[in-house]
Amino acid sequence: MSDLRIPGPTPCPDEILNAMSRQMINHRGPEFAQILVDVTAKLKQLFQTKNDVFLLTASGTGGLEAAIVNTLSPGDKVLSVSIGVFGDRFATIAQQFGAEVTALRFEWGKAADANAVMKALQADPEIKAVLVTHNETSTGVTNDLARISQVVKEFDKLLLVDAISSLGSIELPVDDWQCDVTVTGSQKGWMVPPGLAMVAISDKAWQANAKAKMPRFYWDFAKARNYLEKAQTPWTPAVSIVFALSISLGMMLDEGLTNIIARHARIAKMTREGMKALGLSIFANEHYASNTVTSIAASTGLDTKKLLKILREEHQIVLGGGQGSLSGKIFRIGHLGWVTEKDIEKVLETLAIVLPQAGFVYEGLE
Ligand SMILES: *Cc1c(COP(=O)(O)O)cnc(C)c1O
Repeated sequence: MSDLRIPGPTPCPDEILNAMSRQMINHRGPEFAQILVDVTAKLKQLFQTKNDVFLLTASGTGGLEAAIVNTLSPGDKVLSVSIGVFGDRFATIAQQFGAEVTALRFEWGKAADANAVMKALQADPEIKAVLVTHNETSTGVTNDLARISQVVKEFDKLLLVDAISSLGSIELPVDDWQCDVTVTGSQKGWMVPPGLAMVAISDKAWQANAKAKMPRFYWDFAKARNYLEKAQTPWTPAVSIVFALSISLGMMLDEGLTNIIARHARIAKMTREGMKALGLSIFANEHYASNTVTSIAASTGLDTKKLLKILREEHQIVLGGGQGSLSGKIFRIGHLGWVTEKDIEKVLETLAIVLPQAGFVYEGLE
């Protein structure tokens, strides 16, 4: 078995994997109803929301598409705040469904500037919604969502948030920060295999939903709401993944959200310090470096593809590469969900051996 240290899918504890080996049950029967009600209540606690929360059988991207098609109409103006691959993807979805997207893009490795968001909203009063990635997994940067939300709400716009790799790991009080649609995915910080997107929908998002004309069938929030009243989902859900989620949410609430967030912060800091001690540099500025994924810049001769290959083939450690234009320029280590200091120590110790084999020359002070 290899050490999977990518920012999703993340490793799952045995209790969670075992929950998935259960026999199937009727997804419209009383037993599943009870599980669904329980899972939904627990998710609300971890989302820190009183809003509606739905399970969608999808990867995270399905949740992003659902956020768009349920709140917007073709021709609606949308401001996309993008700091990487996933921010761009969110904008592309909106565009594909006919939104008129104004792209506010920031240099990869940097966080979004809330003042620039303010200027963009001032410049075009017709903008209806703002798309933001809370934690940009491709660059290892966490946006100051509290501040961005403040700006978006000063202008009374709809705030659609990709929190796929942050919610449940990094502080994100959905109601306090007035997020209108908030999306996460089971295979990131939730210690569950891929297969479910979880979404929260505010009153303001419901008001938008009543007028939204983008085509939708499978992703219809109104259908999800009607069925949840009967403790069901509109379509057959990924029953096994719901079993897994039921166990993981129990474990998460036992640990406590505050402790989980603190553990992620501690492990992320340890990862950054460890990488710097090896002579590497962190791609993102420390002020906004992510607590769920660390991106490391390829420097002084380092061949990241070779590095990842040696780690994988000779040490059974799987790290992530760079995506898009960052391919070969960075490598990434995921530290979200089921992760401890020991897991990172092992990666750091192994990197000390493998880095020189992948061409890295230590240029620190002797
Ligand atoms: C993983 C991720 C996605 C994509 O999720 P899929 O589950 O692969 O569809 C989108 N946004 C962010 C920030 C992510 O980390």
